Amino acid sequence: MTEERFDHLRWPFFGDTDRTAAAGIEGWARRELPRIASDNQGDVESMVRSIAASLGAGGLLPAAQAELPSCRHLCLVREVLAYHNPLADFAFAMQGLGSAPLMLAGDKRVRERFLPSAGRGEAVTAFAISEADAGSDVAAITTTARRDGDDWILNGEKTWISNGGLAGWYVVLARTGEAPGSRGLTLFVVEAAAEGFDCVERIETMSPHPLGRLRFENCLIPDVQRIGEPGQGFKISMRVLDLFRPSVAAAALGFARRAFDEVLAHVKARTLFGTTLGELQMTQAAIAAMATDIDAAALLTYRAAWSNDTSGERNSLPSAMAKWNATESAQRVIDRALQLFGARGLVTGHIVERLYRDVRALRIYEGSSEIQQLVIARSVLGRA
Ligand SMILES: Cc1cc2nc3c(=O)[nH]c(=O)nc-3n(C[C@H](O)[C@H](O)[C@H](O)COP(=O)(O)OP(=O)(O)OC[C@H]3O[C@@H](n4cnc5c(N)ncnc54)[C@H](O)[C@@H]3O)c2cc1C
Repeated sequence: MTEERFDHLRWPFFGDTDRTAAAGIEGWARRELPRIASDNQGDVESMVRSIAASLGAGGLLPAAQAELPSCRHLCLVREVLAYHNPLADFAFAMQGLGSAPLMLAGDKRVRERFLPSAGRGEAVTAFAISEADAGSDVAAITTTARRDGDDWILNGEKTWISNGGLAGWYVVLARTGEAPGSRGLTLFVVEAAAEGFDCVERIETMSPHPLGRLRFENCLIPDVQRIGEPGQGFKISMRVLDLFRPSVAAAALGFARRAFDEVLAHVKARTLFGTTLGELQMTQAAIAAMATDIDAAALLTYRAAWSNDTSGERNSLPSAMAKWNATESAQRVIDRALQLFGARGLVTGHIVERLYRDVRALRIYEGSSEIQQLVIARSVLGRA
């Protein structure tokens, strides 16, 4: 681990276990990703399945562990995977997001039934909260689950669901009505094969990302597939998102580092006006801004992860700062990198062109930049 992009592993947030994990995932990425990419030839869905299976075979997925990994571990893994390949980061994150509610709050039967296949990467998983009219406003969810003896009957639609149409099972947040708003929601595991369940639309986005719209029509789910107590679904979902939010920042950091490494090599090699691009002072100003953005994002990201792992309390403020800063600054870094590549950076398939598209969604999902700003401001005002 001699590369400069691993310098931060010397920071006091990390121990030997973290350093070993980062080295392990870097080794996996270098060994496995070229083969997986060549086997799947740009087929996004089979890429995701192959990556999940390979991570699973290596025992690298969260559900393969006895308990949820630390936030620092999740962040380091996502940073490394995002550096190498956005779908590798995506596949790892989704196996974690789909499994975490069960690991945190599922009873023994639900854990034993669903987690082993997720841990081996055989079943791809999904976490379905958003609806057409309930994105940032999660409390507006209208998908219902009505009790019927030992079962629940689900009706409604979810949209923008990662791995929609691909997942073997979905963790779904539905309104059960114990109390108004967010206190009347419950989580369930819904198998892809369940009667009354369908992925009714595949949604194409600017960067490859399996995304679907799900429909529940009198979909019968046994009570054993409920996760946690009725009415606790929002709380459990927020615990999951608290753990994973810093890891979105880490993924953004991985994208930014990749763009930075690519552009450093380019500005040293590119000659113009009798010198190299890197010798021009305006280039140096851009490089200084990128380097500082990256370090600031890394500091906020791993401060949030460390505090999540060690404080024993909700970690909304540092997590929101990390996610907001790292995703916005990664966009800036990649934009600057593209500018320095000139026309080359715009060519379809160029790595910086791809990163420019890949990073965009991170400012929207798992709490948009505006929502993170609200969390930060309310927390700071509440303390004042
Ligand atoms: C690639 C991708 C993958 C996704 N995967 C999943 C998934 O797996 N599971 C899932 O459940 N969801 C998923 N989502 C959905 C995602 O969580 C929502 O898109 C997100 O919560 C925002 O909701 P929205 O799109 O409905 O936007 P809206 O909530 O309509 O927001 C629109 C705009 O208004 C801003 N805004 C909202 N509230 C305020 C406010 N109070 N003040 C100021 N501005 C505000 C927002 O920041 C945003 O810019 C995914 C989205 C994307 C893009």
